[in-house]
Amino acid sequence: MKESLKVNEFGEFEQCLCGNTAQHDGFFPSDGQGNEVEPTPTSWTTDAWLCARCGRLIKSNGEVVGQREGNWEKRVQWYEEQGLTRSDAQDQADADWKQYGFERVA
Ligand SMILES: [Zn+2]
Repeated sequence: MKESLKVNEFGEFEQCLCGNTAQHDGFFPSDGQGNEVEPTPTSWTTDAWLCARCGRLIKSNGEVVGQREGNWEKRVQWYEEQGLTRSDAQDQADADWKQYGFERVA
């Protein structure tokens, strides 16, 4: 099933389905494979953003066009920053990975 994100009045997404926003882990200009690229017209031809938390590839209009492996360790760190203990943060990240069906990346 095709996923798509809610968009604002400008027709652009602000929050990923995983809860990430530009103010949290952020989004990076990406090619079609999920590799970060320079945000210039020559390098960035896909209009795809990589969600730094879950690895979804999302067009500005909110259409999810791909999935890169999520960064599990980064997710754990984010939960730790929210005040969770290391082991609780790991449990929470595992739960997220299960929910989103990602492989855990060591
Ligand atoms: Zn995300």
